[in-house]
Amino acid sequence: MTDCLFCRIRDGEVPAEIIYKDDDCIAFKDIHPKAPVHFLVIPRRHIENLFDVAESDVELLGRIQLAIPQIAKSQGLDSGFRTVLNTGPGGYQEVYHMHYHVLGGGQFTGFN
Ligand code: 5GP
Ligand code: ZN
Repeated sequence: MTDCLFCRIRDGEVPAEIIYKDDDCIAFKDIHPKAPVHFLVIPRRHIENLFDVAESDVELLGRIQLAIPQIAKSQGLDSGFRTVLNTGPGGYQEVYHMHYHVLGGGQFTGFN
């Protein structure tokens, strides 16, 4: 069993409000939303952060970035959204499984 929280969410061992799944990624609501709509998109594969991305991940990340606007629209964010990707202690990353934050639907807190 992994001790990575987001791997455990991926594997259904920790509950989360999952809003989207495909072969590359999973999206679920952030437990402490900083905007009216705030969800996280993770690659299924455990990648710690952008420092851990390899050349072989380029297509995977491209496909995830193609999925993000579709997921955002499915959550009502037709007029746009903010995407945040924290990397390492200098980026105040808390969970070391790479994740895109997607925020929208009104005022944000904490990402200004
Ligand atoms: P980071 O600071 O690593 O970029 O962001 C981690 C995010 O994960 C935070 O916004 C935090 O609220 C969210 N988070 C932490 N633990 C959980 C959890 O158990 N479930 C969900 N759904 N989100 C979590
Ligand atoms: Zn993980």
